[in-house]
Amino acid sequence: MTQTIAAYFALLSMMAFLNAQEPAITPPDPELTIEVSPTDTSSDSPSPEEPKTTPAPVAEPQSPEVITPQPPPFVPQPHLQGELGYLPEKDRQLFTPGVDVGYVRDNPANPHRRLVQRTIMLTEETPRWGAILTFDDQLVPFTREESAALSVAKDLQKVNARAIFFANVPGVSAHDVRRILRKHQSTAARTAACQELLDSKRDIFIETMRELLRMKNTSSDGLNPFYTCEIYNHTAFHQDMKALKANSDRLALCLQGITFIEECLDEAYKAERPGWQRTRWFRFPFLHAPKKKEVKTEVIALFNKLGLLALGETQDSKDVLNLSWKKAYQSLEAAKKNKRYNPKFGGVYSSAEQPVALFHTKTWSKIRQGVLSAIPTKESGR
Ligand SMILES: [Zn+2]
Repeated sequence: MTQTIAAYFALLSMMAFLNAQEPAITPPDPELTIEVSPTDTSSDSPSPEEPKTTPAPVAEPQSPEVITPQPPPFVPQPHLQGELGYLPEKDRQLFTPGVDVGYVRDNPANPHRRLVQRTIMLTEETPRWGAILTFDDQLVPFTREESAALSVAKDLQKVNARAIFFANVPGVSAHDVRRILRKHQSTAARTAACQELLDSKRDIFIETMRELLRMKNTSSDGLNPFYTCEIYNHTAFHQDMKALKANSDRLALCLQGITFIEECLDEAYKAERPGWQRTRWFRFPFLHAPKKKEVKTEVIALFNKLGLLALGETQDSKDVLNLSWKKAYQSLEAAKKNKRYNPKFGGVYSSAEQPVALFHTKTWSKIRQGVLSAIPTKESGR
């Protein structure tokens, strides 16, 4: 009897295995269409739990049944994802919390240093549209006129492009740091006030990041899917770190904010991409690294603790200055040629190690036409 039951279950699991294999070898019927609700703008890829693997009981023979073809399961492209697992073993320690990689690691020719800003983002291969698109600052608009990261991501998703966001904590700025320092005298009180402020933004911050992190791109043929967004650290308060003083509370609050962002990022990535080994890029506000040696030492210690690596000195659109879609277009075209761009310096100048374009989330509505027209679409064949 026991053997019969065991044999029955063995048969069941074999059927489950065969069923699970089935979608991969059954070509989708081009006549059949997938129903998408008009309000659903997200990807229609199923989550991995969805496909049923339990064998269905023997059904009564029925008239021909309409079978809705399932889109292929989402498998991120290895060359278009900010995942640690993509890196060669020797570079993984760069993003591993708690690893001291030293100032220049063991080789002065190595371009990856904690604080040295280089135009290199080794987890992002140059995409088919020719430049890595990065967007700095607030994910959630500060004022009614500003754009939001979700607008950027949805627009880029439509043309199958991808956005890298460097985020601040929503609704706070360097002004809040000054206010806390004025209002509270002791370091303990300042730390507590800072944490209270940051915690009050935690829910909206994580909710926004999770929405961005679950977005996926799927081309019309169902191939080459990849995540639409990655999010990295741009400090909580967007403080200028250039003039920060060692052992100051102003520096302490800055580091507290950087740590807070990493905590929130960990939580958001863990919720949306379980098992994902994320990379941890950092961009200094205004591209200003600290000047003083003692401050650098403190910041490097924190970066080692958190596994952060600075990205900067990029192709720079300076769209905050010009707010022009034409200049945004020109800057992206320059980036594609590994050139930097700044209208103040007469446009195209110098060179970049990797084509990394820098824009700002808040000006998206003013520059989007320029950025989108510099992204080739399949239809246009560019
Ligand atoms: Zn910024």
